[in-house]
Amino acid sequence: MPVRENLSSILKNIPGSVTLVAVSKTKPNELVMEAYAAGQRDFGENYVQELVSKQEQLPKDIRWHFIGHLQSNKVKYIASFVHLIHGIDSLKLLKEVDKQAAKNNRKINCLLQVHIASEETKFGFSGEECFDLVKSGEIEKLANVNVCGLMGMASNTEDETRIREEFRGLKQLLSRLQELKPEIKILSMGMSSDYLMAIEEGSNMIRIGSTIFGERDYSK
Ligand SMILES: *Cc1c(COP(=O)(O)O)cnc(C)c1O
Repeated sequence: MPVRENLSSILKNIPGSVTLVAVSKTKPNELVMEAYAAGQRDFGENYVQELVSKQEQLPKDIRWHFIGHLQSNKVKYIASFVHLIHGIDSLKLLKEVDKQAAKNNRKINCLLQVHIASEETKFGFSGEECFDLVKSGEIEKLANVNVCGLMGMASNTEDETRIREEFRGLKQLLSRLQELKPEIKILSMGMSSDYLMAIEEGSNMIRIGSTIFGERDYSK
């Protein structure tokens, strides 16, 4: 189905309070522009180089979300324009984002990535590490970052009970953190396979790629 129809069938099934991030990684500018023409403005990318080249070529009112694993030495390439970094997984990375944001005279929105899946390979803080970081007061020392929420990816499994438990755990962590820091509001969880469940469990930001743009081809 064309991108426009895919977008509208997702939007029709989610509450207006949920932000849809269209994940355009590996997809050409033409497809991004189809979504843009349909009114979509939030787009997500995983690779720094690809993000930089799309940002240069595409309309300037697009809000670019960096949703991949970000290496500290690459923050400088996206710091002038990135709208929200979803994958903050260490204080070191957050400090680097703060430094590069200061150089660009701006404040960058960031989400702390929490490891909720049982798989080994996913990046992120454990729930307790995340809680300790927020409690430590270290974040308040960084004037050029705005830590405004959490991001998580559920296990890649058919087991819906487990996926729901993982999402629910992240929502509970968010509620605990809000008692320490009320600005923590965004809960980025849910992808093509599990976004309806994620929303039922409290997500207010979903990241959807293949359901909008079709399956990805990594061979190129
Ligand atoms: C690729 C990706 C998505 C989108 O995945 P789909 O299954 O295509 O919707 C969402 N979040 C992250 C972090 C991703 O890397």
